[in-house]
Amino acid sequence: MNRASALAALLEQPTLWDVLVIGGGATGLGVAVDAAARGLRTALVDRSDFAKGTSSRSTKLIHGGFRYLKQGNIALVRESLHERGLLLRNAPHLVHPLDFVVPCYHWWEAPYYGVGLKLYDWFAGDLGLEPSRHLSVEQAGVAVPNVRSAGLRGGIHYQDGQFDDSRLAISLAQTATDLGASVANYVRVVSLLKKDGRVAGARVCDAESGKEFPLHARAVINATGVFTDAVRRMDEADAPPVIAASQGAHLVLPRHFLGGDTALMVPRTDDGRVLFVIPWQDRVLVGTTDTPVVETPLEPRPLTSEIQFLLEHAAQYLAKAPTASDILSVTAGLRPLVKLPGAKSTAALPRDHIVLVSGSGLVSITGGKWTTYRKMAANAVGKALEVASLPRKPCATENLPLADTRPRSGLSAAETVMVPGGQASPARRLHPDLPLTADDVLHAARHEMARTVEDVLSRRSRCLLLDARAAAEAAPAVAALLTREFGRGAVWEAEQVAVFRELAKGYLPP
Ligand SMILES: Cc1cc2nc3c(=O)[nH]c(=O)nc-3n(C[C@H](O)[C@H](O)[C@H](O)COP(=O)(O)OP(=O)(O)OC[C@H]3O[C@@H](n4cnc5c(N)ncnc54)[C@H](O)[C@@H]3O)c2cc1C
Repeated sequence: MNRASALAALLEQPTLWDVLVIGGGATGLGVAVDAAARGLRTALVDRSDFAKGTSSRSTKLIHGGFRYLKQGNIALVRESLHERGLLLRNAPHLVHPLDFVVPCYHWWEAPYYGVGLKLYDWFAGDLGLEPSRHLSVEQAGVAVPNVRSAGLRGGIHYQDGQFDDSRLAISLAQTATDLGASVANYVRVVSLLKKDGRVAGARVCDAESGKEFPLHARAVINATGVFTDAVRRMDEADAPPVIAASQGAHLVLPRHFLGGDTALMVPRTDDGRVLFVIPWQDRVLVGTTDTPVVETPLEPRPLTSEIQFLLEHAAQYLAKAPTASDILSVTAGLRPLVKLPGAKSTAALPRDHIVLVSGSGLVSITGGKWTTYRKMAANAVGKALEVASLPRKPCATENLPLADTRPRSGLSAAETVMVPGGQASPARRLHPDLPLTADDVLHAARHEMARTVEDVLSRRSRCLLLDARAAAEAAPAVAALLTREFGRGAVWEAEQVAVFRELAKGYLPP
């Protein structure tokens, strides 16, 4: 995957694209894979990096969503569990089963949640994981050594899927590229092109060169998450909004706050929310919140009240309670939920997706979940074929293996790389607290379209989420490697470090 060749293809393609996808998050990348797998000439652009938006900020679960079962949304749970099974099969390098314990402190919880989780097992059908089972107090304590034992009556064990969201996005971008699509980050759609009143492509701007150029396409699919309405308004200035954005925050803590490899799931906190405490990449992820928001920045900031909520509620279920000084990183993401007239809160809004077609033929797809991206993509492309009168080729992604973009072989051991303070071996960690080597940085730049220090530290690796302070310390080494790799100068290098360090401040608790 190489940005220069993707851009060259976008610029030089003399003919019409069949499908132009706007947005390189889970939804848009899924659409590009689906369209390319049907043999369509496919282009995708994202105004920032792949998964810079919501798709790198999830709870990192490929799950049916036990919560949606409680809401009675059985169709969504069934569909999600089916998709979970397909993802475990098609991307085993990125998605794996994770053990969960639901801790039970009241007499009714074990029978109530026990029955619910049996239904959850049943809805997964042939693609199910280990069946759920009851745990004694001792067994629950062995699975989650730091669970609060006072008042504990036992627990329920079940399994769900876990993944690395931004890495799955890169895998989808690579898969689409392998299938012949041209996929580029840092290319923004500035306006839509129309012919005879129909949407016929878009005018785009390459953020690196500042160059603007048109992309003509038979079908245009708007997959821009919380920015869906902004793109719809490029088509119809008075399009009524369909997005109700909701912010969710996560805390990242040291691993000892769980003490084992099993996650905790609290189906209902005292104010009716779901709380996850999950082992992830040798850290612990605590989430999440559901705060309705009006503004939708690309880099949302967690609220102090969200951090407080997560610390207080984690403390109710953990023997050793975390405090603000334990937080290694804190993130926020915006759910692109679909508006429902009369809904009391964003938590009550359904997580189903919608596909909208405007009068001029713009197809917009939004809502949904990471877990269901493949099904969403199939629906959107199906609709686009209809709207653009393209041949009805069937969806071909159900059994499609997703690309593994991890380095196959590193740089030669004898090769050294320049980092601030001298030379280092490519396989040596750039920071003692982060799993990142010079080899990883160069692989991300050469094969995964990383363009900035942030791309490397936040989405090709997850260093920013694992430890924001350490990531800021590693920034000069990463900038030095990228500067040499891209043939940039000292000004670019210094700017990259400064911009990243400013960003990383937002990932530390206030
Ligand atoms: C806190 C939280 C936790 C979640 N946890 C889970 C979970 O555990 N499991 C799960 O299945 N789902 C989860 N989700 C839901 C899931 O993350 C989202 O449904 C999904 O990531 C949305 O992807 P998207 O592609 O629609 O949006 P985004 O990822 O936001 O992508 C939209 C893209 O469009 C681009 N764009 C915008 N305007 C333009 C333009 N003019 N030109 C070009 N590009 C443009 C943006 O740069 C962005 O990259 C969670 C969501 C949140 C917020």
